[in-house]
Amino acid sequence: MTENLHLSASHLLWSVIDWIYPPVCCGCGQDGHDICPECQTSLQRPGADICQKCGKTLDPLDGCLTCGAVLASYDAARAAFFYEGTIREAIHQLKFNGNLGISRLLSKMLFSVYLMQKWQPDLVTAVPLTKRHLNERGFNQSNWLAAPIARLVGLKFLKGALQKTLDTETQVGLDHTQRFENLKGAFQAEPVLVKGKSILLIDDVMTTGATFNECAKTLKQAGAKKVYCLSVATTRPI
Ligand SMILES: [Zn+2]
Ligand SMILES: [Zn+2]
Repeated sequence: MTENLHLSASHLLWSVIDWIYPPVCCGCGQDGHDICPECQTSLQRPGADICQKCGKTLDPLDGCLTCGAVLASYDAARAAFFYEGTIREAIHQLKFNGNLGISRLLSKMLFSVYLMQKWQPDLVTAVPLTKRHLNERGFNQSNWLAAPIARLVGLKFLKGALQKTLDTETQVGLDHTQRFENLKGAFQAEPVLVKGKSILLIDDVMTTGATFNECAKTLKQAGAKKVYCLSVATTRPI
């Protein structure tokens, strides 16, 4: 009964969001879809030639350029798509235009990537924003991706498991090392929620993996057993 109420509340929420933001394809502008079936077939996904740890495409000569630079604290990271074209536009629509309806499709796409892994998380959480940043944007796009995934996986979404307590400089324009340095000590985890748990951590985009790394490090310092990271998109290795 509670589950039915929960599902109908969720259905109502998405109906209201669809009414506020009528779906328009991020790729071709067609009405009625966030990403139409034709545009979905052209989305670029990481293939079989990926690093088993960070999910980035391997360099044919040098292997993983991301893990070669820093061995990250997370156990594995995977992404549904490359951060380009229609997916880049969809994430921009969600993040900067507040088109929250797109998160429903993106989280379903993420769920299909989750199903291909052999991960066994105990709970789901999302990469947090600081209170100041959250007040500026009005929402955390990663929460909007993580909550539907938790529902699909059948786990609790605990957004309080991780908090961002330090306002950091934007990562844009920083090099690889600076991105890792910039985030040091920026997060705090809640030991009561994470101790002994395996955690599925959700974000919209993975670039160098600095954010996932710092979040995973913080969660593990608070006693988390494993941290699995899932993002809608990942950049191609530079
Ligand atoms: Zn389209
Ligand atoms: Zn790697």
